[in-house]
Amino acid sequence: MRSPIIVALDYPTLEQALACARQLDPAVVRVKVGKQLFTSVGPAVLAQLHDLGFDVFLDLKFHDIPNTVAGAVGAAADLGVWMVNVHASGGRRMMEAAVDAVAKRGNKTQLIAVTVLTSMDQSDLTELGIKESPADRVMRLATLAKSSGMDGIVCSAQEATLLSRQFGRDFSLVTPGIRLPEDEAGDQRRVVTPWDAIDGGSTHLVMGRSITGSSSPTAVVEKIVARLESSNSP
Ligand code: C5P
Repeated sequence: MRSPIIVALDYPTLEQALACARQLDPAVVRVKVGKQLFTSVGPAVLAQLHDLGFDVFLDLKFHDIPNTVAGAVGAAADLGVWMVNVHASGGRRMMEAAVDAVAKRGNKTQLIAVTVLTSMDQSDLTELGIKESPADRVMRLATLAKSSGMDGIVCSAQEATLLSRQFGRDFSLVTPGIRLPEDEAGDQRRVVTPWDAIDGGSTHLVMGRSITGSSSPTAVVEKIVARLESSNSP
């Protein structure tokens, strides 16, 4: 069964990304292509990952005028990606234009909004002239994303509990910052285990180095899936 895990293929070359993907099972995990890999390699990486059978999350976080974002999201949908994202701070008209672009194609590409980057804290918001707390800002932007027709948001696992109560299980909560108890946190400041994230309401877990940094990515995935299944059983 497909797990909630999305493996972040944060590699500089097509060869490295594919070498990792070939060790993973597309029936169990999905994969994420971000700005570095896509900018270096282009859409070829998507075609190759699709050929291997993967659902791909294209994490380019579009933020521009509505017409431009609609064009970019439409192009992503035409490339057959499973999920693509935009910044909620681009506003309602931008998100509605993105939703329309996907709807026009009649395909099932999921549209997700980034609320507040998890690298930003109160002082960063204050410097931008924003008086709200990060938590209030996340709730405001998540509410706006939902009412603009988005399928979900990217948020931290800590925020997911409140958001899942507010918006229900049909609104995807895609959470990075996931670590296994034995991992180093690295540059992630607030980390959560996969099982605590799912218990807290996350619907998808974006995981990079815990899986890609292992000598056996498949073994790590199997271990996580087994633990998630055991916590689901009555
Ligand atoms: O290696 P790690 O598990 O930290 O990778 C997390 C992935 O999620 C990276 O691709 C990173 O860019 C992405 N991400 C994040 N925090 C966000 C949004 C995306 O770590 N707020």
